[in-house]
Amino acid sequence: MSSARRPGRHFLQIPGPTNVPARVLEAIARPTIDHRGPEFVRLVLELLPRLRRVFGTSGPVVIYPSSGTGAWEAALVNVLAPGDRVLAFETGHFAALWSELARTLGLHVELVPGDWRRGVAPEAVQARLSEDRLGQIKAVMVVHNETSTGVTSRVPEVRSAINAAGHPALLLVDTISSLASIDYRHDEWGVDVTVAGSQKGLMLPPGLGFNAVSDKALAAAAGGGSPRGYFDWGPVIAANRDGMYPYTPATNLLFGLREALEMLEEETLPAVFARHQRHAAATRAAVRAWGLELVCADEREQSGSLTAILLPAGSDADSLRALVLERFDMSLGAGLGRLRGRAFRIGHLGDFNDLMLVGTLGGVELGLSMSGVPVASSGVAAALDHLRATL
Ligand SMILES: *Cc1c(COP(=O)(O)O)cnc(C)c1O
Repeated sequence: MSSARRPGRHFLQIPGPTNVPARVLEAIARPTIDHRGPEFVRLVLELLPRLRRVFGTSGPVVIYPSSGTGAWEAALVNVLAPGDRVLAFETGHFAALWSELARTLGLHVELVPGDWRRGVAPEAVQARLSEDRLGQIKAVMVVHNETSTGVTSRVPEVRSAINAAGHPALLLVDTISSLASIDYRHDEWGVDVTVAGSQKGLMLPPGLGFNAVSDKALAAAAGGGSPRGYFDWGPVIAANRDGMYPYTPATNLLFGLREALEMLEEETLPAVFARHQRHAAATRAAVRAWGLELVCADEREQSGSLTAILLPAGSDADSLRALVLERFDMSLGAGLGRLRGRAFRIGHLGDFNDLMLVGTLGGVELGLSMSGVPVASSGVAAALDHLRATL
């Protein structure tokens, strides 16, 4: 924008980092405290049980001062050793990156190719595991909500497929862009390691990574896994019993996490999930009215936390995003990997309400017409209709 002053507030509508609520920012702004003192111990002992409820687990949740990528690595090195075989599915950019990381760590990755428009096919899981009579596959890696495509894999069906094959593989699930936005249940769904991060549904700034860990995963880690130090679950879980960490934790982000958990509890998780589903449905109504196409090709797998939209051939999604940023001070998600320039993404997760959604879609609609992308009719009006019908 040519003028120096940008009135009003920035719209951060990428699918993470998300808008951090003032309450969380204020909590983080408190003075840092002694991480071995009694106040910190009380904080941790209060925080961890509340955090477990968000994952739907009664087991340990290990918190790292790391981005989501650190939590990816932690999940792998605790339960798998170099040379171990893992089964992964190319559902999109993040699934591809996670499997690349697994390769870097010396794992033998079987990556099932995909078209980046669908989630993990439970039938493919069952078929491959049924063939593996020697039990060489040690883990199945699934990205619950593929942030590059807006596709949510059906984790309970993947679990059923593993069970139907009678296979002992661990189930590792990335929930970085779904936790606290889309229904998720670590224990009930039989997940062994759930990977999460702070900067998406949890409404925090970037900087915390999480592993929720099943008994089976703990058993695999005890005496197994890869050489590891900082990411070893063992010392963290042991120190956590006394409300401590084996290193200096991200104290102020933990203040923020306590406030975010408070906010999720006030709203209640079922209401949080319903709010996200409703905003996602209103966004899809807008996309339909514009006459554009979703990246997600299966109605059962449409994401509640973000929507990825394909532009017609000849339109450049990156110039649309640049224009929307310049003219309306709104950041939209880029097309990633093979969707670069062809798709853009609207994040509607975290601390987000009806009018923020309408403003976001208004900015997209204006940007589409300014960029000369032919849109059939008003997507904003269609989204308003959906919101009105579901008040
Ligand atoms: C954001 C994201 C990541 C990467 O997390 P970082 O915090 O950037 O390391 C991984 N997986 C998914 C599904 C994501 O949405």
